[in-house]
Amino acid sequence: MSLKYTVGDLTIHRVIEQEAPFFPALEFIPGLTPEVLAENRAWMREAKALDDQDTLILCFQSYVVKTPHHTILIDSCIGNDKPRPQRPKWHMKTDDTYLRGLNAAGVSVDDIDFVMCTHLHVDHVGWNTRLENGRWVPTFPKARYVFARQEFDYWTAQNAKAEVPPFADSVLPVVEAGRHELVGNDHQIGDHIRILPTPGHTPGHVAFTIGRGKDDAVFSGDLIHSPLQTHYPELSMKFDVDQAQAAKTRRSFLERYCDTDTLCCTAHFPSPSVGKIRRKGSGFVCASV
Ligand SMILES: [Zn+2]
Repeated sequence: MSLKYTVGDLTIHRVIEQEAPFFPALEFIPGLTPEVLAENRAWMREAKALDDQDTLILCFQSYVVKTPHHTILIDSCIGNDKPRPQRPKWHMKTDDTYLRGLNAAGVSVDDIDFVMCTHLHVDHVGWNTRLENGRWVPTFPKARYVFARQEFDYWTAQNAKAEVPPFADSVLPVVEAGRHELVGNDHQIGDHIRILPTPGHTPGHVAFTIGRGKDDAVFSGDLIHSPLQTHYPELSMKFDVDQAQAAKTRRSFLERYCDTDTLCCTAHFPSPSVGKIRRKGSGFVCASV
């Protein structure tokens, strides 16, 4: 399994926290019919994207990107010690898989210059903070944490109505520590890092494009969850806040990168999770490199 990629002047490492059967396919993707699932079952199983109970297999991971100037962590996964009673595999966990993965990528928590979150869902913010003497503190003490302003505002409003635990324990402590930066969609870091607005899954969801002056790699977050959706971009998933917008965003993202050299680094596709977008029929495929 490949955990390291080199493209342009970037080095990209995957840091995997979990990879496991996650959700029954027909439930996760409400528009998926038993017939379409049956037509795609063989290749999905072959790709280890579907198990023999028709449960989708998802990977939960971060990407560490080294540019000539910065070390960036994209999305921060699930985290430890977090109360997540709805998800037993995430609830109050204490394993060292993630921190060992960071180590294997050759970085320590002190080496991260920027933490960038594609959106503020529970499995993308978890390691933003860690528990120290009963308090949530930034895991990456020297990092600036980059949040899209629109996404931050959305969750601030949601959290005001009823507490959103991942926002309260994994985002707000970063803000209280003064380590955050709220940015607009035109934000850039140096000549390597740009934002691509990709709303739908959440209102302020963004992808990150990295490369000097061109998109050597793109980090797609949750604009897409399963390789099945590359074939059928119109299929949105249960938790896409705006299903129609998510479908539109997915197709335009896939069109944008189709038949280019850009390395597409997905958040949740099963390993290897990374590939190049190619056309297939009326849809697309993310081809391994
Ligand atoms: Zn996710």
